[in-house]
Amino acid sequence: MKYCEKCGISVRGEREHCPLCNAVLHGEAEPGGFPKLPNVRREHRLWLSILALSSVAACIVCLLLNFLFRSRGLWSLFVLGGVACMWMTLGLALYKERNIPKTMVWEVFLIAVLCVLWDYFTGWRGWSINYVLPIVSMGVMVVLVFTCRLFHVAAGSLIVYLMVDALMGVVQLVLLLTGCITVPLPSLLCVGVSAVMLAAMLIFRGKKVSEELSRRFHV
Ligand SMILES: [Zn+2]
Repeated sequence: MKYCEKCGISVRGEREHCPLCNAVLHGEAEPGGFPKLPNVRREHRLWLSILALSSVAACIVCLLLNFLFRSRGLWSLFVLGGVACMWMTLGLALYKERNIPKTMVWEVFLIAVLCVLWDYFTGWRGWSINYVLPIVSMGVMVVLVFTCRLFHVAAGSLIVYLMVDALMGVVQLVLLLTGCITVPLPSLLCVGVSAVMLAAMLIFRGKKVSEELSRRFHV
């Protein structure tokens, strides 16, 4: 064990300096009492930096190729847009990583908005509201229920996010009724699932839902 001559204490672990007086410790180091934890954040950051560098490189290569073959139109802008969207969704996930249900609901919103924008700027074909919106919001509903079970997320906050997600189903009903949606099957499924989910929440957790809503919105 290491030893501080000044304070007369023995120090476990591989410290170089005394925790009390900061003097240099003498003697043989011995393994500390605590297991060493891997630095997840640092590993995280390394992978993110690699990803950032490769996406910048991909963008530059595409811009250069596009400049060389100008006759094919400005396709590199799509690559740039795609990379920007990827970083936005990734950034959101990393920024809010502590609160899983909240992150997922925000992700769904962001993905939906980005898809509608892509659809709009690539000559509206309706794939964003026909397929992406219903499938993504149905998916997140299922995942939310499972996260609640797996990670023991407080049921209160989960209820709010489930409600938000179910409301997205209602929005799709509006889109369906106004004739914006041309392929009705996925949206119909989503509206059905959302309606059943809302009903289930009100029937089984009605009190909790009203408590949670009044707490959050001061109704
Ligand atoms: Zn000391």
